[in-house]
Amino acid sequence: MNKPVLIIYTGGTIGMINDPVTGALCPFDFDQIAKEVPEIREFDFSIDSHTLPEIIDSSDVQPRLWKELCRIITENYDRYRGFVVLHGTDTMAYSASALSFMLQNLTKPVVFTGSQLPIGKRRTDGKENLIAAIEIAAAYDEGKAVVPEVCILFGAKLFRGNRTTKINAESFDAFQSFNYPELANIGIHIHYNYGAIDYAPRPGKVSACTEMDTNIAILKIFPGMRVEILDAIANIPGLRGLILETYGSGNAPTDKVFLNKIKEALNKGIVIYNVTQCQGGSVEMGRYETSRELLNAGVISGHDITTEAAACKMMSILARYTNLADIQKYLNINIRGEISPKYIGC
Ligand code: ASP
Repeated sequence: MNKPVLIIYTGGTIGMINDPVTGALCPFDFDQIAKEVPEIREFDFSIDSHTLPEIIDSSDVQPRLWKELCRIITENYDRYRGFVVLHGTDTMAYSASALSFMLQNLTKPVVFTGSQLPIGKRRTDGKENLIAAIEIAAAYDEGKAVVPEVCILFGAKLFRGNRTTKINAESFDAFQSFNYPELANIGIHIHYNYGAIDYAPRPGKVSACTEMDTNIAILKIFPGMRVEILDAIANIPGLRGLILETYGSGNAPTDKVFLNKIKEALNKGIVIYNVTQCQGGSVEMGRYETSRELLNAGVISGHDITTEAAACKMMSILARYTNLADIQKYLNINIRGEISPKYIGC
């Protein structure tokens, strides 16, 4: 396999250098990548780059960017051995989650990476992240990709994309995957965690299901929260899904007024997905009295899914299905490695 790797540059800190004339930070021309990162000349395969027409800070990411990334990847799929997506760190966990749900039958690596310091800065973490991401995107063993998944490479670790959360706005270790092991650790060698990588057979040709229904909301509950907040959200015209970030193992107030508002929202056909505010561990509805009521009312457990993955999964499932039973079924089960099978008994 000596096909090239394709780098897709969307924006974010990693692509910034100081303008030689003005000194201001400006986006880097990826056609000149070998000048900025000469180490990539050492690879025994070539690297192409594709810069999106509009370079953005990832705070401006919208589902249309995910759709465009899927288009570029699927249309160029046969020409490349793997893909590296350079992306701002702020919403990288959302974008990697979104692509994991949109892309079907993926057999090649899609490695997201970025950096905390611009690639043009002396102490940048961008060069190491970029070089390791390229190496992983290119890694094949007996003709098969070593990591046929959407993943995030950051701070010498490779994570499953839909398991990650940005945890630090300062450190080079900006991401963590609390509920799933790392797919690889990058030291002197790259140590792949083969047992954690998804090698399940992909039955068909790669494709993308890119529709997203953004009629969702996320509500993090807190002591003292006014019930009118829930009421206002439930009355948003067209709202179809609500991610409720609950305490601990999926607990919420037992207050009747709160529970009645939850029931009213469910009766309107709004799907409520229970996700924990904790970084690690899982929702276990029914374990405490405080979550039994939610379970009885018809709230769906997100088990150990991250909020980022829950939001992208909900947008994707709501766009694909109209039948409530189907929506509830797919939200509750693991579809792309985003939920640990041990929590759902399969
Ligand atoms: N605000 C930037 C972004 O997410 C931060 C970064 O690139 O790390 O695009």
